[in-house]
Amino acid sequence: MEEKDDIYGSTLKQFDRIADMLGLDESIRVRTKWPVRSLEVSIPIEMDDGRTESFLGWRVQHNRARGPCKGGITVHPDVNQRKVANNATLMTLKCAVADIPFGGAKGGIRADHKKLSIREFESLIRRYTTEILPLIGPDKDIPAPDVGTNAQVMAWIADTFSMTQGKTVLGVVTGKPIDIGGSLGRQEATGRGCVVALLESLKFLEIKNIKGLTVAIEGMGNVARPVLEILCQKGMKVVAISDSQGAVYNPHGLNAKKLLEHKSKTGSVKNFSGTKDIIQGELFELPVDILVPAAIPGSINKKIAENIQARVIAEGANAPVTLDGYSVLEEKDVFIVPDILANSGGVIVSYFEWVQNLQSLYWTEKDVNDKLERKMVNVSRRVFDFSKQTEVSSRDGAFMIALKKVAEATRIRGLYPR
Ligand code: GLU
Repeated sequence: MEEKDDIYGSTLKQFDRIADMLGLDESIRVRTKWPVRSLEVSIPIEMDDGRTESFLGWRVQHNRARGPCKGGITVHPDVNQRKVANNATLMTLKCAVADIPFGGAKGGIRADHKKLSIREFESLIRRYTTEILPLIGPDKDIPAPDVGTNAQVMAWIADTFSMTQGKTVLGVVTGKPIDIGGSLGRQEATGRGCVVALLESLKFLEIKNIKGLTVAIEGMGNVARPVLEILCQKGMKVVAISDSQGAVYNPHGLNAKKLLEHKSKTGSVKNFSGTKDIIQGELFELPVDILVPAAIPGSINKKIAENIQARVIAEGANAPVTLDGYSVLEEKDVFIVPDILANSGGVIVSYFEWVQNLQSLYWTEKDVNDKLERKMVNVSRRVFDFSKQTEVSSRDGAFMIALKKVAEATRIRGLYPR
C-alpha cells in the first residue's frame, strides 16, 4: 500500500514517528503497520424503479494479533478504501489502549443512505454482508455501527449471517437492538465514555471546580447527545451545539431537555428559542473552556485551530482534527483527549455485548455503565500519567501505549511461516 498525503497518509506518518519513539524493530513495524486483509466488493441491488445499481464496499482488517478484529461499518458517499484502512488502523489502537482483547477492522459502503428507500438500504446491507461473509464471525471479525449505520443495520447483518449458518449467531455483530442480544447502555456508551475521559482530564489538569465550565459540542448524534445531557446534569454549561444543518449559541447555557425536544419536533437545532444561530465553523472559535467535536472526521483544520480559544478538546468523533490542526493546537498548548481514548466507550461496551452474547447471560444497565466507567477511568489515568512521565502529548502517549501492546503480542506470537 502506498503512502499518500491524505488522512491515512497522516496516520501512517504518525505510526512511523511513534514506532521510532518506541524503537520498534523493522520486522515488528511492517507487521503492525499495514492491514492484514482488505476486501473490496461490489454490491448490486435492485432499486425501487426496477434498475439495478452497483455500489462499492470494503472490509479492511488491520490487525488481529490481540484477538478477533473489531470495528464499525460506515455508509457514506465519501468512503474509499484508504479511509476505511485508516479507521481500521485506529480501531487496532483503540482496542489496545482500552485493553480489550480485539484487533482492529473497519467496513465501508460508498452510498448516500438518505437517498435510498428502507428496502433498498436493507438490500444493500444484506448483499454487502453476503460479500464479506468469508471474513466475519464471532471469533473472526465483529462489525458494529458507525457513521450511517445503526442497531437496525446490525440486526440485518446478524440475520443474514445467521441464515447462511442455519442457526442464530448473535455474536457476529455488536450494537444490536436489545431484543436480539444488544447490550443495555451500548447506544449511549461512546458519549458516556467520552464524558468520563474528559472529567479525568480535568482532574489531571487540576481543574477542580467544573461547575460552570463552558462547553461547545459539534454534533447531535449518538455520541453528542449523551455528552450534552451528562455535562448539563453535572452543572457544566453547554453554550453551543450543532447538527448537519446548523449551530446555535447561548452564552448563558442551553437547556438540554428543551433542546432535544426542539430537535425532535423540527428536525434541527436551528431556531432554538433563546439562542443565536451561528455557522458550524464558528462553534469551534467561541470563548469556551472545552470543545467536544463529536460528528465527522477532519472538522478542525489549521485555520479553525488557529482561532480556537478552548483549553481542552475531547475528541468524541474519529480523527476530528487534521494533522496541521494538531500542530497549531500543540503550539497553543491545548490539552487533547485523543479519539482512541475519548471515543473508546463504544467499542468497550461492544466488547461487553459480545461477552454477554457468548455467555448468553445478560447484565443490567447499571452493571454495564459501572463497568464502563471503571474501565474509562483506569484507561484515561494510564494515558495521562504515562504521557506526563514520558513527556509526550496525550495523543502520542495513547498511541505509544497501544502500539507497544500490539507490537508485544506480534512479537510473542512470532512470524508464520518463517
Ligand atoms: N464504530 C465505533 C468506533 O469507531 C464502534 C466500533 C465497535 O463497537 O466495534 O469505535
